[in-house]
Amino acid sequence: MKSPKYVYLFEEAEGTNKKLFGGKGAGLAEMTHMGLPVPPGFIITTEACISYDGNKRRLPKGLMEEVQAALKRVEEKTGKVLGSPQSPLFFSVRSGAAISMPGMMDTILNLGLNDETIEGLIQITSDGRFAYDAYRRFIQLFGKIALGIDEREFDQILIKEKEKCGALLDTDLDADCMKDLCDQYLTLVKKKTGSPFPEDPMVQLRLAIEAVFKSWMGKRAVAYRKEFGITSEMANGTAVNVCTMVFGNMGFDSATGVAFTRDPGTGENILYGEYLTNAQGEDVVAGIRTPKPIQEMKKEMPKTYREVERVRKTLEQHFHEVQDFEFTVEKGTLYILQTRNGKMNAQALVKTSMDMVQEKLIIKKKAVLRLKPQEMEQLLHRRIDPNFKGKPIAAGLAASPGAASGKAVFDADEAERLGKLGDKVILVREETKPEDIHGFFAAQGILTSRGGKTSHAAVVARGMGKPCVSGCEDLHIDPKGREATIRNTHIKEGDFITIDGSRGEIYLGEVPTVDPEVSDDLLTLLSWADEVRTLGVRANADTPEDAMKARRLGAEGIGLCRTERMFNATDRLPIVREMILAGSRERRAEAIAKLLPLQKSDFKGIFRVMEGLPVTIRLLDPPLHEFLPSAEELAAELRNLEGVEEAFSTMKNVSEAMKSLDPSFRESLKLLDHVVSDIVEIKEKRLDRKLIRKQQETLRKVKEMMEVNPMLGHRGVRLGITYPEIYRMQIQAVLEAAAELIKEGLDIQPEIMVPQVCTAQELKWVHQLVQKVQNDVERRYGIEIEFKFGTMIEVVRACMRAGRLSEVADFFSFGTNDLTQATFSFSREDAENKFLPLYNQRKILQDNPFEVLDVKGVGRLMMIAIEWGRKTQPDLKIGICGEHGGHPESIEFCHAIGLNYVSCSVPRIPIARLSAAHAELKEKEREKTEGKPIKPYEEHIPEIDLSIFF
Ligand code: PEP
Ligand code: MG
Repeated sequence: MKSPKYVYLFEEAEGTNKKLFGGKGAGLAEMTHMGLPVPPGFIITTEACISYDGNKRRLPKGLMEEVQAALKRVEEKTGKVLGSPQSPLFFSVRSGAAISMPGMMDTILNLGLNDETIEGLIQITSDGRFAYDAYRRFIQLFGKIALGIDEREFDQILIKEKEKCGALLDTDLDADCMKDLCDQYLTLVKKKTGSPFPEDPMVQLRLAIEAVFKSWMGKRAVAYRKEFGITSEMANGTAVNVCTMVFGNMGFDSATGVAFTRDPGTGENILYGEYLTNAQGEDVVAGIRTPKPIQEMKKEMPKTYREVERVRKTLEQHFHEVQDFEFTVEKGTLYILQTRNGKMNAQALVKTSMDMVQEKLIIKKKAVLRLKPQEMEQLLHRRIDPNFKGKPIAAGLAASPGAASGKAVFDADEAERLGKLGDKVILVREETKPEDIHGFFAAQGILTSRGGKTSHAAVVARGMGKPCVSGCEDLHIDPKGREATIRNTHIKEGDFITIDGSRGEIYLGEVPTVDPEVSDDLLTLLSWADEVRTLGVRANADTPEDAMKARRLGAEGIGLCRTERMFNATDRLPIVREMILAGSRERRAEAIAKLLPLQKSDFKGIFRVMEGLPVTIRLLDPPLHEFLPSAEELAAELRNLEGVEEAFSTMKNVSEAMKSLDPSFRESLKLLDHVVSDIVEIKEKRLDRKLIRKQQETLRKVKEMMEVNPMLGHRGVRLGITYPEIYRMQIQAVLEAAAELIKEGLDIQPEIMVPQVCTAQELKWVHQLVQKVQNDVERRYGIEIEFKFGTMIEVVRACMRAGRLSEVADFFSFGTNDLTQATFSFSREDAENKFLPLYNQRKILQDNPFEVLDVKGVGRLMMIAIEWGRKTQPDLKIGICGEHGGHPESIEFCHAIGLNYVSCSVPRIPIARLSAAHAELKEKEREKTEGKPIKPYEEHIPEIDLSIFF
């Protein structure tokens, strides 16, 4: 079989094929086609990487021959030759997968330098310092990446050399010092590897290609892919981009920089970026020197600035997306080295979407798709309480928005350790490197003393949606001493600090923060999402206040109002207890009669707020003992009471005894006499005994109600059937509330929902109760009340009997919290506390099924229930009100299986609206590309004929 072509010149590669050429390679190819100034080069495909990995880490046959041929073409184009002392060609060798993984894989610059070519470079540039600077960078990078030498060994040598040469910064080292540094680096390589540094540029090139391939499976890259859910379908292997070197460190008419076509922090339509004159690429990204804002280039290099501005326009017009591009200026000539879609925070994504739709660069649907629901969470980030009057102790750059507090820690390992213990931490570093990634995952926020807004710390934190303040120059860190100082303030490891990544400020201690507000731009974007989506979005809300918030956020109704939350209010609890503990039907009826008006006014409040929209009220669900004190508490109180009773008995005699001992006590014991007379009265009326008896009675009841497995016990509809007066009261409260508001002329749409149903007989039983109450209320109010009656589907048997349940129910609502517990036979608390983390770590389960809907198990049951339910009643309305109703991927699944709505907690409503729109748009896209409607779940679930079960 003919092996595939592995090597493509930039002008040969397809700029749209990111899978084969990686994002970086595709970008270079596309820019070359567009006529932008890209230095010549070639791409080794991701297929070559996969072949390398699958073939015991051996380069595919024929690859180096193809490289040779491509090299020849580049040499012809540049007029330079790899390894030539007279006219040397140098390369950068960069990784680049289909999905951007900033800093996760390796890059080698200045490849081709050796003891001969350096002479050529000195001659051409007449700049020995520049040449040796390039050489020492190359030896270090190559030594670290291709030869596996610890980078710190090079850093040590550099520090000593700077001391020796009296240099403060790297740029202070002169040519001789640089040369000396190169010699020492070469000696280090020989010492560490046992062989001299490879002089042959072709050997260098081969080793560099292999090093890039290896970095694809490196620890950092694997961890990154795992964290961000990058599957092999999304990115399989890395390409290698071999690009002619251009030098930004050839003096002060040279520069290197990173720019965004719009501000990635605010979304403003301006050229945004940073650059450094006389510097090489990695200096900007690594934050080794703090770069200048690109606006300064207007004065310093006006011609280049104008060119960069032109590139910005060209890129956006071509890609219809904000671009993040790297450039180098070599002796006044501009080169573009990379472009990719700009990573922005959510606020910037929203603003740029608004602007780009207006500029007709994109259409509304694209705008909706640009903002990922997960990213929108950033907009729901906290900020410092505006009422907080404290002052920041320092300021840096606002590198990633949001406010966070935590213990200051000075290395990533410690951040990870404390994070695992549940501590909140802020990772504080001079600068961060890709190997700190585990610290980012564990931290609430990142603070650095060096580096700009495009430094590693800033880019990674933004990607993760974590707050970051970078380049805080007043911050001096002593990592060994595990402390930092900001002017006169000392921060020891473990001290609390707060950072505000939206303003770039740092505070001492834990500063109060507040919830974010939803901006007008976001509301507009969400209204575009609403135009697209077919899945309804409701809220889980239990109070008029929450209902109001939900409505403002765009909820189209309430999908779950948990009535037990109303029972728990402090003014209700004593009455609820009275109801539970009542010894007779009459006593219970008395308590219930007191609850009725309270419930009614609760429902009226919610109905009024949600006028014109459906409100699903769930009848009482939890086991009754949840409203009672625990047996332990009661037993302790009882012991106290018995102690008091005993004390009372002795107190009675104290006064007499003291007076007989010493008559002079007579006067001073008057007060005691009063108390004693009260005690005597209590004793005579046997009030203390009565109190004790009451307590004993409560304890007896509580013990009687104790269950071995309360969550599987006397709760939900079982409770309603055994204590019908409770459900009757609730149904009456719902219908009377509705009737009174209907009479006021309001459009009220109640839905009564029964929890924990497992058989149609249960539902029928409650249904006849509802009908009785309905008749009574309608008669008394003289009106007809329209409402729906439905059931939660949260036990496995309900799924299996859905065909029968839908004979009685107008709607189903999946309670996936309980359904997940029931499907796995896991109790959530025990699972999450005891074994789920390990299950996830060992990949026994991919996710926490209580957060991410288990499509294969729980989802399968839902599909069965939907199919059978709608077989009986084709227009059966079906929703979900478990927590999964607010989780983006789970919402996509709900859309795919034909749910009518999702109901989620109030703050997640915007996420649900956006997720529902994404689900619809993606489905349409799949239909277009695959030619038939393919649902996402079809990958997971084999088709089976369900009719055999009827
Ligand atoms: C559910 O089980 O998913 C549900 C919404 O009910 P609760 O969480 O109140 O048990
Ligand atoms: Mg439930």
